[in-house]
Amino acid sequence: MMNFTYDVLPSRVLFGIGRIQSTKQEATRLGKRALILATPSQAELAQRIADQLGDLCVGVHAKAVQHVPYQTIAETMAIVNAKNADLLIALGGGSTIGLAKGISLESGLPILAIPTTYAGSEMTQIWGISCDGHKTTGRDPNVKPKTVIYDPELIVSLPIVMSITSGINAMAHAVEALYAENANPISSLMAEEGIRGLAQGLPKVAQNQNDLDARASTMYGAWLSATVLDQVGMALHHKLCHTLGGSFAMPHAETHTVILPYVTQFNSQAVPQAMAAIARALGCDVDDVAGSIQDISRNNGGPVSLQELGFKAADLDDAAQIAMQKQYFNPRPFTQVDIRALLGRAFEGVRP
Ligand code: NAD
Repeated sequence: MMNFTYDVLPSRVLFGIGRIQSTKQEATRLGKRALILATPSQAELAQRIADQLGDLCVGVHAKAVQHVPYQTIAETMAIVNAKNADLLIALGGGSTIGLAKGISLESGLPILAIPTTYAGSEMTQIWGISCDGHKTTGRDPNVKPKTVIYDPELIVSLPIVMSITSGINAMAHAVEALYAENANPISSLMAEEGIRGLAQGLPKVAQNQNDLDARASTMYGAWLSATVLDQVGMALHHKLCHTLGGSFAMPHAETHTVILPYVTQFNSQAVPQAMAAIARALGCDVDDVAGSIQDISRNNGGPVSLQELGFKAADLDDAAQIAMQKQYFNPRPFTQVDIRALLGRAFEGVRP
């Protein structure tokens, strides 16, 4: 029998080629004095959006960095106050949107997000702030962007290998949503369709970075995957990636890319319905889901092993031990020995 709670925060989403042109109109709905946030490498694009906004924009602050250090929030907060900004426009990936969320947490300012990677922070109420080498995360409905503009033209500049790893990072949200403890029929529909959009588009993006149809398909998949990340709980895969990123400074999207096939393999027997949905979305045999996910990376120049990401074999035992420190849901129970074995396989990168 079906038994579920469907609990979703609203957000306004504009999707499509050229939708960036609507930024001024959308910003007007949320505020009068917008501060645009970006990373240094996206300063030029941020300035073009500032030009479109005219008087509605009080400045561009292109100083977002990885992991949202508290110091960066404090520096940006000073600018927000000095310019009397009443709206944050976050142009970029998870790092820039994360900075906007950190400021929103302190100030209550609304966020208009314009994502340029597939990571998905724009659709969630999850924030993360690092301080003294530790990242604290939490959920707050107020930090979820009020409006999100997805324009596939903005993601063509994302280099191919980054597109593959960012896309598989997105796919991981959808894979774990399919076997989430609190999955619901809508989240499962969205997750399957999200995987489909990503799996169909990523190989085409790898062939031609500028293929706008493929960029639209992957962005659509990333949107759906991010939507379910906000709706339902994640499991072992996200926990392992959090451990590897937090305790061993492993790169975010690349680590997700390497780990996902091995967690999928580990969980496969426990969640046949989820595996059937993923197989439908990937267009592969239900017994070859884990290997097919890895093929997306392997066949398109992405990483497949922890070894090639620079992880040290000597740290495998510690990683397994740290990953066991907190209890969390996973559809298949596991021991430290299981986790050590899984990480060992991920270290080698042999096709699951
Ligand atoms: P990122 O935001 O760190 O961006 C990586 C690099 O890519 C940056 O230098 C950026 O300037 C550049 N870049 C971004 N878009 C580009 C484009 N279109 N063309 C060329 N270069 C571009 O990376 P990310 O993977 O988007 O985000 C990772 C971070 O997001 C992690 O810290 C992760 O924890 C966080 N995250 C948070 C959530 C959430 O719900 N809170 C969800 C997913 C990820």
